[in-house]
Amino acid sequence: MQRHDILIIGAGLAGMRAAFEGITAGLDTAVVTKVHPLRSHSCAAQGGVNAAINPKDNWEDHAYDTVKGADYIGDEDSIDIMCREAPQAVLDLDAMGCPFSREEDGTIAQRPFGGANFPRTAYAADRTGHAMLHTLWEQAVKLGTTIYQEYHLLKVLKDPETGRCAGAMVMEIATGKVETIVAKAVLIATGGYGRVYASNTNAMINTGDGVALAMRAGAHAADLEFVQFHPTGLKSSGLLISEGVRGEGAYLIGKDGQRFMQKYAPNKLELASRDVVSRAETLEIMNGNGVDGAIFLDVRHLGRDLILERLPQIRQLAIDFEGVDPIHEPIPVRPTCHYTMGGIRTNTLGMSDSLPGLFAAGEAACVSVHGANRLGANSLLETIVFGKVTGKEMVRFVNNEGNRMPKTSTDEVADAQRMVADLKARTKQGGVRPADLRKKLTEGMQHFVGVFRTEDHLKEGLKVVREVRKDFDRVYIDDKSDAFNTDLLTTLELRNLIDMAEGTVLCAIERKESRGAHAREDFPTRDDANWRKHSLAVWNHNRGGIEVDYEAVRTTGNARYKPVERKY
Ligand SMILES: Cc1cc2nc3c(=O)[nH]c(=O)nc-3n(C[C@H](O)[C@H](O)[C@H](O)COP(=O)(O)OP(=O)(O)OC[C@H]3O[C@@H](n4cnc5c(N)ncnc54)[C@H](O)[C@@H]3O)c2cc1C
Repeated sequence: MQRHDILIIGAGLAGMRAAFEGITAGLDTAVVTKVHPLRSHSCAAQGGVNAAINPKDNWEDHAYDTVKGADYIGDEDSIDIMCREAPQAVLDLDAMGCPFSREEDGTIAQRPFGGANFPRTAYAADRTGHAMLHTLWEQAVKLGTTIYQEYHLLKVLKDPETGRCAGAMVMEIATGKVETIVAKAVLIATGGYGRVYASNTNAMINTGDGVALAMRAGAHAADLEFVQFHPTGLKSSGLLISEGVRGEGAYLIGKDGQRFMQKYAPNKLELASRDVVSRAETLEIMNGNGVDGAIFLDVRHLGRDLILERLPQIRQLAIDFEGVDPIHEPIPVRPTCHYTMGGIRTNTLGMSDSLPGLFAAGEAACVSVHGANRLGANSLLETIVFGKVTGKEMVRFVNNEGNRMPKTSTDEVADAQRMVADLKARTKQGGVRPADLRKKLTEGMQHFVGVFRTEDHLKEGLKVVREVRKDFDRVYIDDKSDAFNTDLLTTLELRNLIDMAEGTVLCAIERKESRGAHAREDFPTRDDANWRKHSLAVWNHNRGGIEVDYEAVRTTGNARYKPVERKY
């Protein structure tokens, strides 16, 4: 058994930023990650990070854009904190040595992004997440942070006497050894669950493990129905072409070469918020203006020099994965699952109200700065602001706890060990392969729980999810070994994906309105009177499934945030 003051699950930007606070406050802080930290999905972020650092900009405008982008269901207090703290959070990274792109006068360069009224997206070429994560990784190495690298989270533990979070069970991937780690405060920073859809821009590892396992331990998750489809995933692979490309001036065109965003967002055109652009594209494709299920992103008019200087990675992705060179040809793209607005419900300091001692930050959390629709470049920002805020709060929490270590229950520990042993012991007879179930689940979500939704479709989707959950009892793995058992790991991930899919589809069925990324054809308008509230997904132990509850949106009384129709 290992013991630490602070245990952080996830070594992406949110986890690493929080770890920095723990270590520099002198607490025993450890980070668990199922891949090398630099393989976290944060490293793939391209476009940039928002902050009102230009003297002509101000954080109040950033907050207003965010409240509006969130379609009036983001928590206004959290949004204020994020936007107010943004400049300092970016400057912290700058001071640590993050190589942001620069203007001629040496100030940090900023580009326009969707849904924003000012060019406030700081960037490092089109590799912003890469630059930021490497910077925090360097700090972790310098400070000697304890990293459990290639350890897989199996279970979130609870103290049987106090009911608070007590630590976690993890499996060392190299050996299959199951370990208990006890900690005074636990942070879930395991990222999103975009892998619940067949076509997505996410890393293979984004399977919602932390959120699913925290739910099973009693933490509530909020707003799971709000899933962001990015307007420009590559047609064949779903790989992301950053919004930064439209920020630089790219057009969306149909099969006849004509732009079409004028019809849908006459002012902001291609830079309307992502939900608006994804719906426009879907309608154009459905109305026959696409080619082979895709429309086109055109950068040719930007010219070779700008493309090579500011969008080098994008160009290479288009050449390697779509066979087109954007200098000469438009890139075929389509809406693709990109980001999950929902996650573990927390207060403004990152703690779960339903499971004390458990914290969440980054994409795994719902401190609710994105509401029903995240603005581009606000997510990297969320990781560094709430990584920092939550890290500081965990330090305060641990210092209050003094020497008291939580207790773990021997039953819970045995449970996690049994789950792994059971999966390995199952035989082929009458069983199903995890890959087949995963395909059925993700394709079902893609088909029935996509950009446009109806009650009938969603119920079909729920049927698929429930069948997959039932069949999971018969899932068997071929590989019975201990070392690097990827067959076992993907099966554990599948179990988590099923929980996330069920939460998403149940909350989507219940929400009888259209708001942000949740577009119901049978309820096409926003209904503030009945639905300006967060949905909560709560794990029911007796039924072995998820139930839906609700919670009020946190408002601040700021007159500027009063809900109005959202137009771009
Ligand atoms: C292609 C792409 C481009 C993007 N571009 C931008 C952008 O330009 N601007 C922006 O603001 N946002 C962008 N986003 C979103 C943003 O990058 C993410 O929301 C953010 O980086 C998430 O960071 P995180 O720290 O929460 O999690 P992640 O970076 O996803 O890290 C999760 C960590 O959890 C660990 N983990 C997960 N499960 C387990 C487990 N079972 N056991 C142990 N460890 C586990 C992983 O190993 C990893 O270290 C982009 C997203 C994608 C997919």
